Order: sequence, then structure tokens, then C-alpha cells
Amino acid sequence: MRYLQSPGSDAPVSASAQRARRIRPPARGSRMSRMQSPTPVLDLLFPRRCPVCDRPVKPYGALICGGCAQVPVPVGDSICMKCGKPVEAEEEYCADCAARKHLYYRGMAVYRYRSVSGSLYRFKYDGRREYADFYGEGMARAMERFLRETGPRHAPELLIPVPCSAQRIRKRGYNQAALLARRLSENTGIPASEGLLVRSRDTRAMRGMTAAERQINLKRTFHVYGNGVRLKSIMLIDDIYTTGATIDACAGALLEAGAEEVSFLTLAIGENAL
Ligand SMILES: [Zn+2]
Ligand SMILES: [Zn+2]
Repeated sequence: MRYLQSPGSDAPVSASAQRARRIRPPARGSRMSRMQSPTPVLDLLFPRRCPVCDRPVKPYGALICGGCAQVPVPVGDSICMKCGKPVEAEEEYCADCAARKHLYYRGMAVYRYRSVSGSLYRFKYDGRREYADFYGEGMARAMERFLRETGPRHAPELLIPVPCSAQRIRKRGYNQAALLARRLSENTGIPASEGLLVRSRDTRAMRGMTAAERQINLKRTFHVYGNGVRLKSIMLIDDIYTTGATIDACAGALLEAGAEEVSFLTLAIGENAL
């Protein structure tokens, strides 16, 4: 796994990867197993909140309370070979992936949605950006599993967060998927880009549409900036995987622009169709 950093060292990054990097480089000494806050002085002024109980984290300096660490439930060993949803041990694919094709190659998630739903709501709507520090470590573990199960040929060259509309960014101040992509990039050394894929409008207008109408509407929602995507393998990053419609729409836009393969990692995934 040449992309993953060994403790205390920065992974070598090619010149083209450096240019693609639009975000902070890996912090010195950052490593996937570190559970300490990267900003202890700021913690004194603004105590870091726990992603589970939302109270100041105990013990001080940790990213999650000792007693809360077991609450987020990992997807487990048996997952759908396509979308990463938990399945029964004898099943290869979930009901959704067995029934229809997806445009993306393959994806994985870290946690079962129900176990982190309250936390994800605060992460998305209540300004709890600091949760990304804890969740970024889970995403890095999911990346390790992805690389282990798919092989080096499918290693992503670039991470792209599923974009929010400019309107939503103005209202909320940040895109939670971009926070996750930044942390994952710091933890793995794989560059991330927030400018390549854009969302042209808010998709809340989709309420009441049929599945086919949604698909057409979503297809027109995501656009790739730049003169063709020359990267072989791109990985989309988002907080939740539900039906896969958004990931497919993003993957479709990137494939059309020249990407050879698009995979995804999300923080949470539903156990059944949501
Ligand atoms: Zn807690
Ligand atoms: Zn599936």
C-alpha cells in the first residue's frame, strides 16, 4: 500500500499529484492510529466535542470519549461486493446491487448509518466540523480495507468529495464531505481536489420525482471542470451512501470527462435500502 504513510514519515508525492493537491499537505507526524487532537491549544479555548455524546471529550486531548468509542458500529466483515452495505455471510451482493447496475466500480463505508445518524446530523447541520478528525481515522481504515480487497490496480490517485451547491456552502459554511476528504488525504497521502467536480444546483427540488426523473435531474447536476480528466482512478468521498444515485451521478460525470474508474468511500451506509 504505497499510498499509506508509515508512522512519522511523509509519503512521496509526485509532482503531478502535488499540483492536483488543493488542500493542506499531511500534517507532520500525522498517522492513522493517532487518537490525539492535533490542536491542543485551541482545545483549551474551545473544548473539542465528542462525535457521539456531543459533550467536551473526556479524556482531554482525545478525539472521542473512552465510553463513547464503542457506539459507532462498523459495517462488519460481510459486506456487499459492490456498495459495501452489510449483507448476510453467504450473500455476495445486497438486494439493490443484485438488481441493478451502478456506474461506479466499487465502494465501502465505515459505519452502519443508524449507529451514527445523530452524529452525522450535527456534523452536517450544526457546525461540528471537529468530528471530521475522528471520522477521518475511520475513513483511513476503510481505505486500507478497500486497497486490501480490491488490489493495487484499483488504488485511487485522487480523492474528490461529493460537492455541495454554492448556495448550500454559503448557508452552512462548509461541505462535510470535503472535511472528510481532507482528513483522509492527510491520513493517507492521496491528494484531494475540491474544484474538479462541482454541483450546479441544489437537488432538494427532486422531492416528488420518480426514480428515472431523479436520475436525469442528477445527471445534469454535476459538472467536471477542466480539460478532460486524465486520471485513471478517482475515489469519491461522502458522508452517507443511501441509494447510490448521487455517487452514480458523480461517477457518470467523471467517467464522461475521461476518468477510467470511479470508486467511493463513505462514512456511513444504510443496512437496508433507505
Ligand atoms: Zn462522548
Ligand atoms: Zn450493494
